[in-house]
Amino acid sequence: MQFESVIGLEVHAQLATNTKMFCSCQTSFGEQPNTNTCPVCLALPGALPTINQTAIKFAIQLGLATNCSIRLDSEFARKNYYYPDLPKAYQISQYDKPICENGWIDITVNSKVKRIGITRIHLEEDAGKLVHEGQDPNASYIDLNRAGTPLVEIVSEPDIRSADEAKAYMEKIHSIVTYLGVCNGDMEKGNLRCDANISLKPFEQTEFGTRTETKNLNSFRNVHAAIEAEIARQTDAIIDGETIYQQTLLWDANKKQSRVLRTKENADDYRYFPCPDLPLVLVEESAVEEYKKNLPELPDAKQERFMEAYKLSEYDAAILVVNKKTAAYFEDTVKQYGMAKKIANWIAGDFARLLNEAKIEITDSKITSAHLGELVQLIEKGTISGKIGKTIFETMFETGKMPQDLIKEQGLEQVSDTSLLQSICEKIVAANPNQVAQYKEGRTKLFGFFVGQAMKETQGKGNPKLVSDIFTNLLK
Ligand code: ADP
Ligand code: MG
Ligand code: ZN
Repeated sequence: MQFESVIGLEVHAQLATNTKMFCSCQTSFGEQPNTNTCPVCLALPGALPTINQTAIKFAIQLGLATNCSIRLDSEFARKNYYYPDLPKAYQISQYDKPICENGWIDITVNSKVKRIGITRIHLEEDAGKLVHEGQDPNASYIDLNRAGTPLVEIVSEPDIRSADEAKAYMEKIHSIVTYLGVCNGDMEKGNLRCDANISLKPFEQTEFGTRTETKNLNSFRNVHAAIEAEIARQTDAIIDGETIYQQTLLWDANKKQSRVLRTKENADDYRYFPCPDLPLVLVEESAVEEYKKNLPELPDAKQERFMEAYKLSEYDAAILVVNKKTAAYFEDTVKQYGMAKKIANWIAGDFARLLNEAKIEITDSKITSAHLGELVQLIEKGTISGKIGKTIFETMFETGKMPQDLIKEQGLEQVSDTSLLQSICEKIVAANPNQVAQYKEGRTKLFGFFVGQAMKETQGKGNPKLVSDIFTNLLK
């Protein structure tokens, strides 16, 4: 039996505000434990919250960028549960009046565009952290620096049908929040993470099956792997006649398997009610219009423009716009040097690979627009071959030296001296009578052999176009 997987993601994004959601404590990362705290986020009796206006603005911007309607009178609610990292024993969140609703984003998987609905985006505060690596190995320590940090939760419709689509959705959300600058998108630090709700059903059945929820997936790879594994687990279970329970799971990235954290609570377990300490969030229509007018160019629009302005394929443009900094770098280089397609190939190819290995961003690389532009020009002019260009690129990446300097230093200039190449090629023809005879009998593939010999002789520096012309002539 074939099953269709049904997936809905709940993405948490930490908002890039300087201060917390309901107090003026800093949100800075890596401080001494419990130093970014005050009576409000420590939940001392009598302390009252106030709303961070920047957080509201960020949530609205995100809602607009994801085609949501913006509620002008949204409400904070208390979500009650007990856990040691939650000093108030409730989390301030939003319940039936979230700030954004009914939106969508488009994702592309296997060159097909698919629209994924966004049910809601609501504001809430983060909890603190339990630390188990303290002085006493048997103790749990509590660090409340993170308590009260502003989050948005972006809840998708159950429109996603595969791990590939889920990953593409997550990547798109990452692009959008970082383009807007409302979240720094640092998944390793948990600043963008998601819970994946997964169920299976027979294809022809319209009703959804029982879902599980895998918590806190903090990389694109984990999103993909955890969903694949859960689909496989549920498929086996259903085939074996087992029941799927509505459970909360935790993904172990090392073991590549999930374990059960708890059997899921329902909304009523949280006893939601409007937070009596906070007013409704009243937003002026004109403010929403203003935010809308000032939204930056978003990934989809940028992709279209790149295809149009620089004659790039959909595929190339899509790769370039994933990261706002990469897109800006590309555009900056092309404005100075032209050769859009070639620049795009370098950025999406060797450059992306090296950045990935070094785990740095394009703007932190020693290769500036000038390095890349000059290199591509030198290859175009025939000063160096494309192959040597690749070696130079790697050295530039390590040293930050300009391509011209590296070419001089290492004597890598392409040999375009026709008479020198002519004599090298003649020698090769004379030294290989068998191959010449075979070639003339029709084994045209041997042409590559001759060119290869000439390249060997010139240490890869022979101008390939000239070498090829000379052999064509000699082997007639
Ligand atoms: P909760 O708040 O209890 O987690 P929600 O109704 O808000 O529950 O749904 C959370 C997420 O689960 C949403 O992204 C939604 O699309 C998804 N979802 C709901 N039902 C299913 C299902 N049967 N299979 C997969 N995903 C589902
Ligand atoms: Mg939820
Ligand atoms: Zn505080």
